[in-house]
Amino acid sequence: MKLDLAVVNGKVFINGRFINADIGIKDEKIELISENGLDIEADKVIDAEGKYVIPGGVDTHVHFRDPGHSERGTFYTESMAAVAGGTTTILEHPISSPPQYNKEILDNRKKVAKERQGVVDYAFFAAAGGQYPEEITKVAKEGIVAFKTFLHEAPEGREDEFVGLTMANDYEIYIGMQEVAKTGLMLASHAENNDLIQGFIKKFRQEGKVGAEYHCPSRPPISEYTTVQKMITFAEATGCILDLVHISTAKAMQYAKEAKERGQKLYLETCPHYLLLTEEELIKHGAYAKCNPPLRTKEEVDNIWKYVLDGTVDFIGSDHGPFLAEEKDKGLKDIFLAPAGTVGIDVRLPLMINEAVEGKRGITLERVVELCCENPAKAFNIYPKKGVIQPGSDADLVIFDTNEKYVIDWRKNYSKSKEIAKIYDGKELNCKLNYTILRGKVVMKDGLVDPEKDGTKGWGKLVLRNN
Ligand SMILES: [Zn+2]
Repeated sequence: MKLDLAVVNGKVFINGRFINADIGIKDEKIELISENGLDIEADKVIDAEGKYVIPGGVDTHVHFRDPGHSERGTFYTESMAAVAGGTTTILEHPISSPPQYNKEILDNRKKVAKERQGVVDYAFFAAAGGQYPEEITKVAKEGIVAFKTFLHEAPEGREDEFVGLTMANDYEIYIGMQEVAKTGLMLASHAENNDLIQGFIKKFRQEGKVGAEYHCPSRPPISEYTTVQKMITFAEATGCILDLVHISTAKAMQYAKEAKERGQKLYLETCPHYLLLTEEELIKHGAYAKCNPPLRTKEEVDNIWKYVLDGTVDFIGSDHGPFLAEEKDKGLKDIFLAPAGTVGIDVRLPLMINEAVEGKRGITLERVVELCCENPAKAFNIYPKKGVIQPGSDADLVIFDTNEKYVIDWRKNYSKSKEIAKIYDGKELNCKLNYTILRGKVVMKDGLVDPEKDGTKGWGKLVLRNN
């Protein structure tokens, strides 16, 4: 036997810790791991001496917009941004046009994703809403990894992207959760209190307070944690497994922690921007730093780290939400007119590795791998195909060096919406990703992704959950 690829001399993440080992890859899978050196020939050898080797990142929260709003990003462009940042599998959330609330729409999205010939593996969420609850159990049979919903009506002007994706009142939430519970899959919920938010926005507008600095106060912490508390209660009553996404406040995390301690099965996601940035970014970058929930105060940021370290937070997603600069620039006149979302699929893993290397927050590299690679694969039932380095698993690897530095530069971003990727621009990281390997093929080397030249165009494949 001859291996297709060997990664040798690296510090490899195996069973929760780093050990010196060589990895042999054959037919897209990890064939063997050896601590004593490989004695099998390989077509290609990567020397990872002095470098770390971890499972490819699994991003639990991305929006690719394709089809419907492919001007913002496609399964091709955004896949390049993903692998540039060490993510080899993305879980796509259904804000698209239309959202995939039934088999037909989902099949079409699968078709579009395939036609775009991207370089990242992808799995789908399906939309769950009050409009078509009868579709929930049907679409669950199509290999999706979870459901997603929003707890408000479609934002003005974006109605096409929210069809079948909202549970707009408590009755719809209850019925929708009952249906999702039947499937045994998770329900990811955007958790913000729309009544409060609409009230604040109306008041600020009446007072002429429409500058970027009013975005955060229009969605204060209470607008998140009251809804999280309610959703936990509804989930407990219906037996639905919640995926509390992009949680930004300590109080919401505390509610989730207490529910877990009571034995309720639920998952908690946060994003790098809630851990690393504060509301000051809105002053610097205006609508380019507008996301929902909003960035918080420094105190809040300090407080949520506790829940990252104690195991309450299960995974870190990017909430990659590309928009064109011209859409964001509507916020120059009135911040409430700008759509909410940031570009971040490319920096999720590097930023978290950097935190571990810097060591200021007490997070270890091992915990970063759990949060960004392993836990997502387990929670969304694509493990051990994804999220782990062991024989038989897909050969998805990231090789990085903590002795090299890397400066984030929006111009080098592969996202179609790179012009809004300013919030981390110029930040120097104490790590550099050297390789991203997807099912045995190098899809990124030294930050460069060139599918045409590398012959990797279309290498990205649909991933279905385990049954
Ligand atoms: Zn999102």
